Amino acid sequence: TIFILLMTMLISVVGNAQNKDVEAYRFVDHLLKKMSLKEKVGQMTQISIEAFLKTDEKGNVINPHELDLNKLAVAIKEYKVGSILNVGGTAQTRENWQHLITQIQEMALSQHLKIPMLYGIDAIHGNGYTLGSILFPQEIALAASFNPLLAKEASQVSAYETRASFIPWVFSPVLGIGRQPLWPRVWETFGEDPLVVSEMGTAMIDGFQGNDMANKYNVAACMKHYMGYSMPLSGHDRTPAWIPERELREYFLPPFKAAVDAGALTVMINSAELNGVPVHADKHVVTDILKGELGFKGFAVSDWQDIQYLYLRHHVAVDDKDAVRIAINAGIDMSMVPLDYTFSQDLLTLVKEGKVSMNRINDAVRRILYVKYKLGLFQQPLGNAGDYPLFGGKQHQELNYSIASECITLLKNNAHILPLKRGVKILVTGPCANTMRSLDGGWSRLWQGTNSDETEKDKHTILEAMQQTFGHENITYAPGVTFDKEEDISDAVAKAKDADVIVLCVGESSYTENPGNINDLTISAPQIALAKALSKTGKPIVMVLTEGRPRVVSAIEPFTSAVLDAFYLGNQGGDIIANTLIGKINPSGKMPYTYPRYTNSLMNYYRKYTEDTTFDTAAGYHPQWEFGYGLSYTTFKYSNLQLNSDKLASNKPIKVSVDVSNTGDREGKESVLMYVSDLVASITPEVKRLRGFEKIDLKPGETQTIHFIITKDKLSFINNDLKRVTEPGKFIVRIADLKAEFSY
Ligand code: BGC
Repeated sequence: TIFILLMTMLISVVGNAQNKDVEAYRFVDHLLKKMSLKEKVGQMTQISIEAFLKTDEKGNVINPHELDLNKLAVAIKEYKVGSILNVGGTAQTRENWQHLITQIQEMALSQHLKIPMLYGIDAIHGNGYTLGSILFPQEIALAASFNPLLAKEASQVSAYETRASFIPWVFSPVLGIGRQPLWPRVWETFGEDPLVVSEMGTAMIDGFQGNDMANKYNVAACMKHYMGYSMPLSGHDRTPAWIPERELREYFLPPFKAAVDAGALTVMINSAELNGVPVHADKHVVTDILKGELGFKGFAVSDWQDIQYLYLRHHVAVDDKDAVRIAINAGIDMSMVPLDYTFSQDLLTLVKEGKVSMNRINDAVRRILYVKYKLGLFQQPLGNAGDYPLFGGKQHQELNYSIASECITLLKNNAHILPLKRGVKILVTGPCANTMRSLDGGWSRLWQGTNSDETEKDKHTILEAMQQTFGHENITYAPGVTFDKEEDISDAVAKAKDADVIVLCVGESSYTENPGNINDLTISAPQIALAKALSKTGKPIVMVLTEGRPRVVSAIEPFTSAVLDAFYLGNQGGDIIANTLIGKINPSGKMPYTYPRYTNSLMNYYRKYTEDTTFDTAAGYHPQWEFGYGLSYTTFKYSNLQLNSDKLASNKPIKVSVDVSNTGDREGKESVLMYVSDLVASITPEVKRLRGFEKIDLKPGETQTIHFIITKDKLSFINNDLKRVTEPGKFIVRIADLKAEFSY
């Protein structure tokens, strides 16, 4: 009976969803029939808000929230624009946002078909464009928690606080694989492992969209940047990637597949080129794989100006119009224009000339209207200001604090120097010590660079938090150096002599996209000089890293007694760092990427056997810190790794169990990571691959048994014929330093 009941419930849930889709498409198709070509092309056009802001005679924006209604009328009434995005400008109050969106929406709805505007922003670690919102840890920090639930909770709050500004669409999450440490946007990813990216990414989408995007607390997510954007060969942003299709399907496509299966309804396309073809021009990647094979039902938006760039940068189009033809025929549905109407004009002409078919236009617009419908914008185009009492409040801040506490990662702790004793004299130094930028990372209130120091005055830098936590009388401060200048190392050295311990805050300056490219992965020279000078004082050094990618620190690490990696923890990061140093927080993060020791040895953990055993013994795999590495103030012991069988069959998965005990004297969280190694395969197998992970919480003396299931699918890989296969042979399960063998 229970089975029948469950099945009936399941059928009715699925049935309801299908009915809702039938309703949605009935509505959309009815609307589509009434639309003129111009209105359709308008829906495919996205313009930046900057185009509508009031300016003075010199063209300077008077006020970031004052609209020039005449300019807006040109967009809405003449060009029938269906979407607006925010990029430039500064953050503003929620009330200003509500006012601005209301004006836009009212004008859109005054048109005869009453199609609501779709407004989107880069709310990638909270609603960063609204003052007072929560700024969560960036994706790379969330990944270090190995706890997808936290990603979901963070994005639920981000969705709530974005809708509180009446905005229903966020350009998040990034689902690229962060395995090219030179690339400036590594911090926007969930790190190098495809399983972690998939689990964290789908959790985030779940948090944004919930079960029903039309809910006033949910927003539409946007998967980005599809696909291969995160691994440019040069390491410079928006430059070519060369990734064979076998490799794409093995590592880069699965997170997007998982996200589509989880219901993601918008996608942003990779700005760069993949295997010699700009992705905005690649029908195989956008239409055949994403919309065909993965069955993606939502719409694809271009990245910033990227249709035009097919002509201006990539040289695959002869002019703007040719670029529009190529992109729309490749499967781009919406153009992030972003400031003028050439796209609309060109597309109209192309349809009239028969170079873009009416079918393609209808398909694109149907997808866009479907998303607008699913967001409930036709019924509820605006919010109610009173519906969001929790915006930026205590409850959300406490949640942010507890999430960020699980992201901070302890990488070294010689002689248990940490936690530091209360009353010790501490020198806080380094270019990251007294700025909010080093905690927030990019996309924080401002696009280009951040203005965190002005907007986050009520939050604490590392220095301020240290003063509060350890007492002002115990803290001295000297910046020592900037990122690129040796300012006053002697002051720092003099102060170090009077201190018991040095907290050295180093890393890189935060940025949004620009200026992110680097020519050397090594941490900047002045920071190395500071560390060297301080080491001569003989005082123990605790290095705190705040950075967007793993800058090589092998010139500093030997001088340190302890290392904490704080990535970009968000605007409560200062408190998290200070409370970890004093021992109130027990760190539990683990590396979400392989931290390189050398600039010319950039490998990831799922490397091939040949990368381990080169003929040249100096090379090989010697990272500074391995993927999955992280310490705690307590100790964990792994024992009793058991498989219920040593033979895996298609219909008989293997059950794995392992005991994890807290053998220290304080409570701690631990991420249990299960790897599997394939010993021999028809293509060179990886040394190991993460096949399961779970975060647990253990009291002192407590033991928990953790279970994983290994199915045949989990051992599959893409073979040389681009087929997903599981080949018979021997495998090894690895959890911590335990291992067990089985065969399939
Ligand atoms: C970035 C995207 C972002 C878009 C809109 C682009 O420059 O690559 O990640 O969503 O701008 O701000």
